[in-house]
Amino acid sequence: MSDAAPVVTCPECNAAIGKFADVCPKCGIEITPVEAATEPNVTGDSAMSTLIPYNNPYALLAYYFGIFSLIPCFSLILAPVAIGLGIAGLRHVKGQPQAKGTAHAYIGIGVGAVMLLLNLAVIGMMIVAAATMP
Ligand SMILES: [Zn+2]
Repeated sequence: MSDAAPVVTCPECNAAIGKFADVCPKCGIEITPVEAATEPNVTGDSAMSTLIPYNNPYALLAYYFGIFSLIPCFSLILAPVAIGLGIAGLRHVKGQPQAKGTAHAYIGIGVGAVMLLLNLAVIGMMIVAAATMP
């Protein structure tokens, strides 16, 4: 266990628990996340950050790289970047659930993966065509 890991104490049994745990592992009581309890305007903010995940630049960039990878000449360069950024975005959400951007990250990964496969298929066909040329 790292010293930097955020820890809170259980209000019921005072056991030290991870900040992002939903229930206390010792007594099983439900834990209210610190952010949700202290943030007064959490619904409006989370709705906005779901639309534009400004707290998760990886997810936002993954989304845009995914869209730009639809441009044929750029696919092979941008698609892997979109996938990588999407994975980074998902990891970011895992560490900070309030950051949002999961949808954008998945779009980046999905579009990036499809475009990468399409381009690899086209290249594969070109190689096969060139190899079977008389
Ligand atoms: Zn407890």
